[in-house]
Amino acid sequence: MKLNATSEMIPITWPEFAHIHPFAPREQLKGYELLDQQLCAWLSQATGYAGISLQPNAGSQGEYAGLLVIKAWHASRGEGHRDICLIPESAHGTNPASAQMVGMKVVVTKCDASGNVDLDDLRAKCEAHSANLAAVMITYPSTYGVFETRVTELCALVHQHGGRVYVDGANMNALVGLAAPGQFGGDVSHLNLHKTFCIPHGGGGPGVGPVCVVDDLVPFLPAHRSAGMGTDAQVGAVSAAPLGNAAVLPISWMYIRMMGAQGLKAATEVAILNANYVAARLADHYDIHFSGGSDKLKGGGVAHECILDLRPLKDSSGVSAEDVAKRLIDFGFHAPTLSFPVAGTLMVEPTESESQAELDRFCDAMIAIREEIRAVEQGRLPQDDNPLKNAPHTAASLLGSDWTHAYSREQAAYPVASLKLNKYWSPVGRVDNVHGDRNLFCSCLPVDAWR
Ligand SMILES: *Cc1c(COP(=O)(O)O)cnc(C)c1O
Repeated sequence: MKLNATSEMIPITWPEFAHIHPFAPREQLKGYELLDQQLCAWLSQATGYAGISLQPNAGSQGEYAGLLVIKAWHASRGEGHRDICLIPESAHGTNPASAQMVGMKVVVTKCDASGNVDLDDLRAKCEAHSANLAAVMITYPSTYGVFETRVTELCALVHQHGGRVYVDGANMNALVGLAAPGQFGGDVSHLNLHKTFCIPHGGGGPGVGPVCVVDDLVPFLPAHRSAGMGTDAQVGAVSAAPLGNAAVLPISWMYIRMMGAQGLKAATEVAILNANYVAARLADHYDIHFSGGSDKLKGGGVAHECILDLRPLKDSSGVSAEDVAKRLIDFGFHAPTLSFPVAGTLMVEPTESESQAELDRFCDAMIAIREEIRAVEQGRLPQDDNPLKNAPHTAASLLGSDWTHAYSREQAAYPVASLKLNKYWSPVGRVDNVHGDRNLFCSCLPVDAWR
């Protein structure tokens, strides 16, 4: 997760930003108007696009808005029948969902063994659907953490068949300052200001998913007719407020303003370097999925994230990706993304915000965990009673007089020496995630308790 710097956050507490009603008279919104203009201009520079709307409140809403724009463009040329949206199987789930929402038909295309879009399959599907092709949605770098080396060729191919290219920009943290989707062939992208541009995004929001488009699509960007904004050509509002989640925009403004062009580029470079550092340090211990064409980084690097493939370990030891995620809590880490975009894996996106010492602390933990798994593989620890299966360990479970496990209390609590100096104690032991997800309950008092 990127750092959300205090200095970025402070302005959103100022009443001048915080206490403005979204439908206040236009003459009272001059400051927000300027913020909108400046932020859009900077984001245009970063993405290579001609026009931007800050209205969408999430990446997925940006996708929805962008696909509406593509639809409106086709319709404006008398080609409203074009409704096929090609989406590679590596896509984030919101891509097909958004395409469905705008009434397009999703056709899934294949990826090759290295995680790249399979261009032969894409070409075949472009040809098969040429008359009805509306768009392709790709993600660059992809959700598999891969820079598609043939992305310009891919864009040109789709254009040949009359479709437009949607480049999902959620992974722009690996591009800002280095490459621009509007320049390598994208027609529309969304950004996630709550990912790349520092708006905090724990717990589901608030997000901002600006939709960015090339020149000929600018006339179709979302309007807001009930706020008296926009032309008939434009697609309708995608958000209740004309400027979407305006109150958090100062965070991204501050980030860009303080970083400057040089700083943003350096952040991107360090983010890529950090992901590759983690991948390189862990490559002797884990399979790195989709790393530039071969396992163990031989064929090249990863992009902004690396996927640790734990599936082979499940077969050899019975230890699952979830067990590893829970064991990381004993080492003082909130686990990285679990089982996405590939089930049975951990996806690590360190960003530029972590120091090398912190990356090393994480890698040391993952290597120590690999050794624990090896002990299970070699039969030195039972499959059903080991530090991984029982993680996380609470202080209460370790301090009781009835310790009966096949490994020591010390192994449970202090698997690496540094934890003796600085230890996070989990307040609860293992919870059954699936049971919890399927059995929602209310933690508030029953109504009759208030009588
Ligand atoms: C996060 C993400 C999205 C969706 O963004 P939300 O703001 O969560 O709606 C879409 N595509 C990709 C690749 C993402 O990582």
